[in-house]
Amino acid sequence: MNLEQIDKQNVLNTYARNYVNFKKGANATLTDDKENNYIDFTSGIGVVSVGHGNKRVADTICNQVSNITHISNLYAIEPQALLAQKINKLSGYDMAMFFANSGAEANEGAIKIARKYGEINFDSKKYKIVTLGHSFHGRTITTVKASGQKKMHSENFSPYPDGFSYKHKLDELYETIDDQTVAVMIELIQGEGGVQPFPKEDIQKLAAFCKDNGLLLIIDEVQTGAYRTGEFLASNLYDIEPDIITMAKGMGGGVPIGCVMTKHKDIFEPGDHGSTFGGNYLSTAASLEVLNILDENKDSGVLDETIIYFNEKLKAFYESNTHLFYKEVGIGLMRGLRVNDEETLTKIYNNAFDNGLLVLKAGKITLRLLPPLTISKDEIDEGFTRLEKAVASI
Ligand SMILES: *Cc1c(COP(=O)(O)O)cnc(C)c1O
Repeated sequence: MNLEQIDKQNVLNTYARNYVNFKKGANATLTDDKENNYIDFTSGIGVVSVGHGNKRVADTICNQVSNITHISNLYAIEPQALLAQKINKLSGYDMAMFFANSGAEANEGAIKIARKYGEINFDSKKYKIVTLGHSFHGRTITTVKASGQKKMHSENFSPYPDGFSYKHKLDELYETIDDQTVAVMIELIQGEGGVQPFPKEDIQKLAAFCKDNGLLLIIDEVQTGAYRTGEFLASNLYDIEPDIITMAKGMGGGVPIGCVMTKHKDIFEPGDHGSTFGGNYLSTAASLEVLNILDENKDSGVLDETIIYFNEKLKAFYESNTHLFYKEVGIGLMRGLRVNDEETLTKIYNNAFDNGLLVLKAGKITLRLLPPLTISKDEIDEGFTRLEKAVASI
């Protein structure tokens, strides 16, 4: 049996998969079993922030797992404590953290924090959380319900937990807030929803409103966190101080890890929340090294240079292809090009692959680019050369 047959017989059919078989990875370049190489403008959906086959992360993981991989959260875990300290240092916030294994799970933690806060801090119960249309917060039963995209609320999985409501526009959020609302949960730059950044003044207005009205502001930074925008957190870029922030994707460089952090440090007591794997030696040691690498790249100016270079290439590509694209969107290395129609997007996506370039779609009409933050100038050049070839025949 070949890989496709083994996969189809034994793995649940939840992904529309491409059966390329990647064998080697080096920074933003992947090589398949037929020795074809691909430039990776996806980072495995914003995950491989430090590139494929990163030597420093590999050495850190090897050293850690040849000693201690896992002990359980019943004992102190040094790399976990150091990672939390590092995240506070890089973000400039003073928060306490809980480590989970994914973005959805980090958001579950955020929702639990908000609900407990609403239970214990007011005379009457507050539990409702307002989110945005087009938002994406995860795939668990609660986080699909928290996601504002209608297509995610399939009857197949109902009933869902209640307490979530949505509005399509940021300035409409205010209308759904009532006496039972405890929190507003948003992405600052919607990822799956179309690489859509919100205007800074609108976010600052919302943050001030939440503060004045005793509402918690939850920022889902699962995709934007760990320098994706050029700043450690998008919340830093927007100059706000959320009550709760969640991270995952890029922080582990490929090792599964998520994090929920809050300035309400005393909200949880032992027994309120937990995870068997969350924050173990393996994932936190890896994540700490990933953040060390990214911190150094930011400090030395390398990250900003990469962003500027990628930006120039993207702008030039966009300007020479305005017959296909009508808008360029995104911030830092979280970028998108809006395509005129869904069919054209599918063609570009497929042609890119055939020309040795991995790209992503977001929503129906956005070509999404999330390269590793360590991508080289040569890889950026080669990627855009391949993208030009991909669109030339359309
Ligand atoms: C990917 C993503 C999630 C879900 O993360 P998982 O690790 O897949 O559970 C949640 N929120 C946002 C903004 C995301 O981009």
